[in-house]
This record gives sequence, C-alpha cells and structure tokens, in this order.
Amino acid sequence: MTFKELNLHEDVLQGLDAMGFEKPTPIQEQSIPIVLDNKDIIGIAQTGTGKTAAFLLPILHKISKQETEPGAINTLIISPTRELAVQIDQQLQGLGYFTGATSIPIYGGGDGDDFSQQKRALTEGADIIVGTPGKLMSHLNLGYAKIDRLQHLILDEADRMLDMGFYDDIMKIISHLPKERQTLLFSATMPPNIRKMAKEILVDPEEISIAISKPAEKVVQAAFMAYDTQKVDLVKYLLRFNDVPSLIIFASTKIKVKEVTKSLQAEGLNAKQISSDLEQTEREAILNEFKSKKLPILVATDVISRGIDIDNIDMVINYDVPNDAEDYVHRIGRTARASAEGEAITFVNEDDQHRFLKIEQLIEKEVRKVPLPTSIGEGPEYNPRRSRGRGNHRGRGKRNFKKRR
Ligand code: ADP
Ligand code: MG
Repeated sequence: MTFKELNLHEDVLQGLDAMGFEKPTPIQEQSIPIVLDNKDIIGIAQTGTGKTAAFLLPILHKISKQETEPGAINTLIISPTRELAVQIDQQLQGLGYFTGATSIPIYGGGDGDDFSQQKRALTEGADIIVGTPGKLMSHLNLGYAKIDRLQHLILDEADRMLDMGFYDDIMKIISHLPKERQTLLFSATMPPNIRKMAKEILVDPEEISIAISKPAEKVVQAAFMAYDTQKVDLVKYLLRFNDVPSLIIFASTKIKVKEVTKSLQAEGLNAKQISSDLEQTEREAILNEFKSKKLPILVATDVISRGIDIDNIDMVINYDVPNDAEDYVHRIGRTARASAEGEAITFVNEDDQHRFLKIEQLIEKEVRKVPLPTSIGEGPEYNPRRSRGRGNHRGRGKRNFKKRR
C-alpha cells in the first residue's frame, strides 16, 4: 500500500515526500480511509507506530480540499503534554507545508506574549489548533475562542491524558464544541476508562487495534522483585544454579550497560558490553566471541539489540523493565528460537512495577513472580499500583521508521 493509493491530496503527498515517509504504517493504512469517510474512530497502537500522521494526513487532506470558513477553527487536537504537543506541531509543519494550512500551538511554557498571540489566533480562527488541556481551558474560560464551528476533534495519547487526570478538563472542553463533529481518539492502550470516555464522546466509532506481537510460547518468563543493589547478586545466583552458556543482559541506557558490565566483571564474571560507543570492528569482535560461545555474557541496550542478529540464547535477563512492551517482546524473543526452550527473567525494582504491569496487560499474560532466594535478602514488596508515576519519567521510547543510515 502506498500513500497515493490512499487518495491523499497532492499537497499532502508532497509533504510526505519532503518528510521522507515512503509508505504508511499499519495504523495509518487502516485509519486514513475511515477518517476520510468522516467516521469517528478509536485507534489503538503501540508508541512509535505513527499515530500522529494517522490523524494529521487525512485532516490535512480535508483542509486542502475545503477551505476553513473565515474566523472559524477547523480542527482541535488535544495532547497530554507540551512535549507531545510540540512533536505533533512539528509533524504538522512538515506534512502540512505544501497545504498552506494554518496552525496555532496552545501550550504553556512560553512568556506572557504567547498568551495574547494565542488569544488573537483563537479569536481570528485557524485551520488547526494543537493544545494541552490546561492551557486550552484557560482560554476557553475567557470566552473568546471561536470553536463553535469546529469540524474535527482529536484526542491524542488518550490513555496518558486520563492517567494524568485530565478527564474533567477534556469533558469541559468538549462541552464548548458543536455536537455535529468528527471525533478521533488515539491511544497506545485501551484500559476500561478509555472505553468509557469513548462511549461518551464518540458516535458509532470504528475501532482499529493494531495488535502487538506476542512472545513465543516456548519462552519461560519469570520476574523477580529486586532492589537495584541486589541485581548483581541475583545474576550470580542464577548463573550458579543454571547451565547458561549464552546469556544476554539488557539494560535501558548506555550508562546502565556500562555500570552493569563493570559490576559483573568485578565479581569475576566473563561479561562484555556492546555499545554504540565501540568501533565497528570492536563490536564485531565481541559479537563473534559471543556467537562462538567463548564469551558467555553479553550486556546490551535495546538499540543495539535491534540491529544485531543473534539468537539461540539460553537466557535473557532484563536488568530493568523496558520502556515499552514491544521492546520487552523483542528482548525476550532472542531466546527460544528453533525448537529450544528459553528463559526470560526480568528484574523489577520498586519503581518499575507499574510499568511491568502495563507490559503484562499488553502481552495479555501474567508473568510468574519468583521470590528472591534467601541469600539475597528481602526485595521490595510487589505493589504495582503504588509504584506508578515514580519510575515512569524516562522518555517514552521513540522509534523512527526511517532506516538508520
Ligand atoms: P506514536 O504517536 O504512535 O507513538 P509517532 O506518530 O510519534 O508515533 O511516530 C513515530 C515516528 O515515526 C516519528 O518520528 C514519525 O516521524 C515516524 N513516522 C510516522 N509515520 C511514518 C511513516 N509512514 N514512514 C516513516 N516514518 C514515519
Ligand atoms: Mg503519539
């Protein structure tokens, strides 16, 4: 499928060309025809799958076909955070460049001038507004925004907005909008509160859900609740009691990878890290050592793991909980290839519990929680609801569909 086959306006196709998007992602391929057909939509797909363009492209197409009435606002996009709103705005600038569509960003963080500029734009009209709930509310409360002729409402990253407690604000904003409109809701997950909200604000929506790949059945998954300080001992313990000729340990950041490798080496374990800091030849040498089983333990980040082709690993240890379920599936998929069974063990500290729960929800499987061996001492209590929000400040994994050069 190509973008052209989706019948997008020539000006939009030109923007796609300039952005280097060659073909639609699955969520784009499925959503765009429905949006063009003027239907409400619920679009569920993992982070990094291209949800932004899934709504921007058909909206830009419509704006290219039919000019917004003078003084009116055509489309309102609500996004949970300033950062995400900025990202939408950037894609909008790129994809919409040749359409001449006008847009106004309505999110905080600037100086006072921003507000009067936003006010002017809201009074005079524009094709598209991208805003955060709080900032939009403060304008709407003052009563000058021209949103009574709005045609499209888009709620982006809806699960995050509800997580952040924006339900009331969103409903208040919606109360200012015309009932006759098209509403699009995009989200990475579909918890019950999103379903409930969708019922209230969408009319007879089409639902598109792009399933994530599930881990192979043969992978035996387990998790230990452990404090960071207990993790090295836990690796040692697992190696002592299991025959593990090949082990990959994943950690989320380059710095962590370095730290983990050092601590393992200090304990006399034969571990090496593979990181983007190494020269290509060094990297290849380490990989070859690992593949030929001379090196038993490889420590790596997700970024590296995606680019390398190693399988038939006996065990994968997630030294921390990956940022999204796709990375989890990808990490543990390194084991249990061919006919062999493999083991995937995740170390979950007190702050990662909530994120681990989210992964379990996405893979639709509860991972067995194994008590820590007594020699390692007590780990954190398992209480995923409490840990929410504390360990979740790492950036969401952004993925680029463009090939890395
Ligand atoms: P999501 O909202 O689903 O998390 P984004 O819309 O932010 O994902 O897209 C993730 C990345 O993929 C962005 O960098 C975006 O520019 C890029 N991208 C989106 N669609 C395509 C495409 N069809 N081809 C190439 N890159 C794309
Ligand atoms: Mg998004």
